[in-house]
Amino acid sequence: MPKDTLSKRDPRYDVLFEPVRIGPVTAKNRFYQVPHCNGGGYRDPSAVAEMRRIKSEGGWGVIFTEQVEMHYTSEITPFIELRLWEDKDIPALARMADAMKSNGALAGIELAYSGVNGSNFYTREVPRAPMNSPIRTFTKDPVCARAMDKQDIRDLRKWHRNACLRARKAGYDIIELYGAHGFGVIQHFLSPLTNQRDDEYGGSLENRARLFRELISECKDAVGDTVAISVRLSLNELGGLGNPQVRDVIEMHSDLPDLWDLGHGTWEECSGTSRFTEEGAQEPLVGGIRDLTDKPVVGVGRFTSPDSMVSQIRRGVLDFIGCARPSIADPFIPRKIDEGRVEDIRECIGCNICVTGDMTMSISRCTQNPTFMEEWRKGWHPEKMNEKGESGTVLVIGAGPAGLEAARAAATRGYDVALAEAGTELGGRVRLESLLPGLATWGRVRDYRVHQISQMANVEIYYDSRLTAQDVLDFGFENVAIATGSTWRRDGVARHKLLPISIDGAMPIFTPDDLMAGRLPEGRHVVLYDDDHYYMGGVLAELLVQKGARVTLVTPSNLVSEWTINTLEQHCIQAKLIELGVEIVTAHGLNEVGSVGVTLDCTFTGRTRDLACDAVVLVTTRLPNDGLWQELKARENEWPAAGIKRIERIGDANAPAPIAWAVYAGHRFARELDTELEEGALPFRREVTELTPVE
Ligand code: ADP
Ligand code: SF4
Repeated sequence: MPKDTLSKRDPRYDVLFEPVRIGPVTAKNRFYQVPHCNGGGYRDPSAVAEMRRIKSEGGWGVIFTEQVEMHYTSEITPFIELRLWEDKDIPALARMADAMKSNGALAGIELAYSGVNGSNFYTREVPRAPMNSPIRTFTKDPVCARAMDKQDIRDLRKWHRNACLRARKAGYDIIELYGAHGFGVIQHFLSPLTNQRDDEYGGSLENRARLFRELISECKDAVGDTVAISVRLSLNELGGLGNPQVRDVIEMHSDLPDLWDLGHGTWEECSGTSRFTEEGAQEPLVGGIRDLTDKPVVGVGRFTSPDSMVSQIRRGVLDFIGCARPSIADPFIPRKIDEGRVEDIRECIGCNICVTGDMTMSISRCTQNPTFMEEWRKGWHPEKMNEKGESGTVLVIGAGPAGLEAARAAATRGYDVALAEAGTELGGRVRLESLLPGLATWGRVRDYRVHQISQMANVEIYYDSRLTAQDVLDFGFENVAIATGSTWRRDGVARHKLLPISIDGAMPIFTPDDLMAGRLPEGRHVVLYDDDHYYMGGVLAELLVQKGARVTLVTPSNLVSEWTINTLEQHCIQAKLIELGVEIVTAHGLNEVGSVGVTLDCTFTGRTRDLACDAVVLVTTRLPNDGLWQELKARENEWPAAGIKRIERIGDANAPAPIAWAVYAGHRFARELDTELEEGALPFRREVTELTPVE
């Protein structure tokens, strides 16, 4: 594409802005937002449409939906994705396609027939698969899929054709058939694990690929004159359709689909967290595939740096840079590269908090981008703030993720901001946690905000400034955010025990705050008690092993770091700790700490057992550091005379939670300065199902 005369982009990145043909359509550039879930789906169609519209504004060449259930005989309740079961579903999908195309992107729809990966709890239809087999879902549902007979296969082909016609009617430019991550019927037929048929659809690779060939050809026959037909495949299924066989499939059908969209193996591998997966980790699996086909190849790799994107293109690894999480953390990546603002990119940290929105069927949030999924609900734009209100000054106390985001966002609105930090460095818990094993990338939460603030003339930072209530009253800022963080408890209270446990003063006790401050147990055998269940317990066990301790991790859960099932990394964490030699005691709570050991109680039987140790690390829960807030609240009558309009506690100082919650709280504080919510109104918009008229 000829370089836009207004564009300030570095010519090194020109290659990323070349148009690429995909069958009958052409993408304006090489930025390809691969399908990604968002926890909103069919329940929140306008919220999802607006989220995708923002990506169009951000310059993506191709923008995809999440997975779309293409027929009612295969749905994935309780997960909330999209549906194209009948014509009634077209308007919601059309709204999304319009939004995607609003700034010249191609609109893509990912059609999924989940087969053995869907329990059909909502429709109560019997699931269908290549062979009789138990349903393979996260929740191990106790139902089976039946083997498809020839009529079922004919039906499946017809349903695909119908879905293509509906997708075209809804305005989509690319239809992608889902055959990756173990989630789509194409993969189930291709794999020798899930397809052990002995008819012409089973046996040899040629036979197992028959359905794939039929579906792609028939979708092309139906709509291929105007709509591109692509396929999403996994590059490596362990023990099944391995990487060499995937290459064979591609070589055998090199010109069949209009594009190959290639993901790692399982979803967990494809969306690996930064703790376990490097940027660009897919390259050994995808390298060389472009030589097997004339059709464009898309791959992912949590790409946030334009240099690594260019390298993928120049070295012939990929034709399109596929992004899901990077496009969530910063929907404006393409535009920022185009405008020569690479240093303004808000880089994904690879924490997978976005995935947790889908896994918990709530609505996704992003640690780096607090506006994600609030574009329609709250009218929040990732790059623009609402206009400044009538007051002028803001004091932010504490420079953790909540305080940094509050300062950045309030200053962007035009307020004069003072940021006071008790310590000598910025970042709060993010600074400390990013020094822990595997969490270095999390430092980007601080780095992005500190860089942005450093560019603004209306933010003053005061280091070494532990403010008191009197200071706040003396300074007289009109708006004050108290973002003073939280402190880990050292009394054993969390979920298993609601009352403090008995602790012998002779036993050295440590909390995550101690370890992060460099105060480490001296004894050899350390019991780490995890009643928090997110990442901290597992990470600190790793740290202690690195420091030479023998570690026993005790948890009332049945799994280590159980909540990380939602970030798709629990299995990696437990495997890593086993490999490191950490002894793991599950289903046990901490009952008592003695002078030479601890007493544990079984969560099932209540039976106790003793465990000798030299030190105990308590990873339990945190309490807000809200002393400053409490003091100021008690002196509320002095606020008007001091010129103070509003004081709010935000982030962990309000209620401790993951970093994403703190960033969101900081952003919300800034957005809501000088605004009042109408009495009784919700602070967000939502869609309510329209009732069918009574007959
Ligand atoms: P959050 O996650 O809510 O942003 P953090 O714990 O990461 O909270 O950050 C809190 C920050 O507040 C820390 O950097 C801490 O040093 C700072 N802080 C705590 N009390 C005060 C105070 N009274 N005055 C200024 N800074 C404070
Ligand atoms: Fe990246 Fe974390 Fe945001 Fe997901 S939540 S896009 S992994 S920063």
